[in-house]
Amino acid sequence: MTQTVSRPVGAHEPLPLDIEAIRADFPILTRTVRDGKRLVYLDSGATSQKPRSVLDAERWFYENVNAAPHRGAHALAEEATGAYEAARATIGGFIGAPDREIVFTRNTTEAINLVAYALSNAATAKEEELRTYAVGQGDEIVVTEMEHHANLVPWQQLCERTGATLRWLGLTDDGRLDLSDLTSVVNERTKLVAVTQQSNILGTINPLGEIIARAHEVGALVLVDGAQSVPHQTVDVTELDADFLVFSGHKMLGPTGVGVLWGRYEVLDKLPPFLTGGSMIEVVRMEASTFAAPPQRFEAGVPMTAQVIGLAAAVEYLQGLGMDRVEEHEKALTGYALEKLAEIPGVTVVGPPDTVARGGAISFTVEGIHPHDVGQVLDDHGIAVRVGHHCAWPVVRRYGVPATTRATFYVHTGYDDIDALADGIRAAQKFFG
Ligand code: PLP
Repeated sequence: MTQTVSRPVGAHEPLPLDIEAIRADFPILTRTVRDGKRLVYLDSGATSQKPRSVLDAERWFYENVNAAPHRGAHALAEEATGAYEAARATIGGFIGAPDREIVFTRNTTEAINLVAYALSNAATAKEEELRTYAVGQGDEIVVTEMEHHANLVPWQQLCERTGATLRWLGLTDDGRLDLSDLTSVVNERTKLVAVTQQSNILGTINPLGEIIARAHEVGALVLVDGAQSVPHQTVDVTELDADFLVFSGHKMLGPTGVGVLWGRYEVLDKLPPFLTGGSMIEVVRMEASTFAAPPQRFEAGVPMTAQVIGLAAAVEYLQGLGMDRVEEHEKALTGYALEKLAEIPGVTVVGPPDTVARGGAISFTVEGIHPHDVGQVLDDHGIAVRVGHHCAWPVVRRYGVPATTRATFYVHTGYDDIDALADGIRAAQKFFG
């Protein structure tokens, strides 16, 4: 986990990644939009585009293997099981985790809900060991004011179900976490701290070491939302030292419909299931059932096999580029974009103004023009950005803006994309001026 980034790299310095070669791997980047304009895709933070190898991996599975893993004794079922479990090992390896600590979910949102429901289900679990982490009245759950709704609403709901109290760490005016009251907010009553590693709206990279150390000091669990960090930087769970890490395949060049919950095995082993049914059981009788060990305990039903295999191909693609280079690439782009936006009068970045502890999600407002209108003009120029509250409503409220326009970068983004963005913003100013 890197907490500081280098100074902006000028436009004339070559980017760490070979953009032309990478773009050729993404079929969608050959298409045009809005009457023949080049697609400038600056919305990878919402969902990333897919390289051919990921599309091929999913097709390979359906054309050659298609069967339900862990069920049936025929050749295809065995091969499907092998491919599914090999993918688990690849994806685990990407974050430094053993296979048995990798649980497949639908996305980050489901992974967080899995943990939140496990913690409330724990209160009524029959086996004493599965009640270890039960959350109840008097307990506290801590989040931050910069969380995506996916890492906020499930905890609000957990508190409603259990009578626990939700507390949060606030934000500073320059878009960072305010840790001045960390020791009072995270205290002996805290059962879990849920925090994002990188904000999807502000781009801030959070000082997780300090937060995790404090949480563990008071015996709380820590869930790290890696939806915007795992795709963009090296994240190793051994170094991270949290208890859970969650992320989505579709934001890291993989398919939609697959997400990952990493959990420390000793913790997973003491959690009751979220969803129940086939595949997650040990013994089933009419009266009651017992559950399989993790990760199967948390994977009820036939899994999203092709998507998991596609995600493993995405991981291999990223490993081929090298995550250190991916991170450096995005740092260079972020520095360049901040410089370019600073040159345009009336543009204000909502989030850290420099590249220190900051990733490539750049939200901004343009004076006198609603963010949706900015997005509309950019779209007319073939530039895809996101507009709105970015599923982080408390953040836009905190900074007193109705919404923002957000550009996000990835491995195929080049300086030309950012130049197009800057030209598009100027065009919006001209149009509405
Ligand atoms: N957390 C963060 C920081 C995100 O940016 C997102 C999606 O934008 C999510 C969670 C939810 O991801 P998903 O919609 O894939 O579940």
